[in-house]
Amino acid sequence: CGIVGYIGMRNACPILLEGLHKLEYRGYDSAGVALITNTGNLRIYKAKGKVADLESVAADKDCSGNIGIAHTRWATHGVPSEANSHPHVSQSGDITLVHNGIIENYATLKEQLIEKGYTFKSETDTEVLVQLIQYTKDSVQACNLAMAVRLALKKVIGAYAIVVIDRQEPEKLVCARKSSPLAIGVTEENKELFIASDASPIAAYTKQIIYLNDDEIAVCERDKDIQVFNLDNKRISPEVKEVDIDLNMLS
Ligand code: GLU
Repeated sequence: CGIVGYIGMRNACPILLEGLHKLEYRGYDSAGVALITNTGNLRIYKAKGKVADLESVAADKDCSGNIGIAHTRWATHGVPSEANSHPHVSQSGDITLVHNGIIENYATLKEQLIEKGYTFKSETDTEVLVQLIQYTKDSVQACNLAMAVRLALKKVIGAYAIVVIDRQEPEKLVCARKSSPLAIGVTEENKELFIASDASPIAAYTKQIIYLNDDEIAVCERDKDIQVFNLDNKRISPEVKEVDIDLNMLS
């Protein structure tokens, strides 16, 4: 339902939680956040209920780190629960993602992954996607996260906006969309990058926004140009729009 992502020099967690508050107007049944901490660990905190409940869960935990993703969920597959809330994590514990939308062929993909030895902790369509990305990364030679996301999405039927992080490649956020909006807020020299399902969590930080198009994947790295390519690996030069905050809030 609502997505937020951040990479930069600031502590990611407060920015992510603040972003979730900005998306609360959309409605949701649970919330969660994933961070790669200063010591390189992946930490995931979740709560059924409100963003305020998530804040209580996270309050006494390690919320360090300059990169993270967060989500408010509106359940489509699997009841509202802590286990079904996002971010979902791959079996190896390396890759985690947040997802808006529906993976229509999730049951077939899930069966194939179970045959390959994957086990599932939730009833969601989303968990299938993160396991598929992990499987692809592990089974294709010289495959990095961006390539794994691209190859996995080629097998997916459905609608999605996703943001993915990988403990093994802790300096980047990989995001993609099809039929579900995703905005990337860019800054001078990209010292910080903000991702969200609409511009309202980004507006306080920057007006410069790239809206991903369908079938596009973006690799967002601090201090670097954003790389955008399509599912066939064709490079695309993204269009940066100057977004008027008030107009955007009304849309
Ligand atoms: N289909 C996913 C789920 O049920 C994502 C729902 C959403 O967009 O929040 O977990």
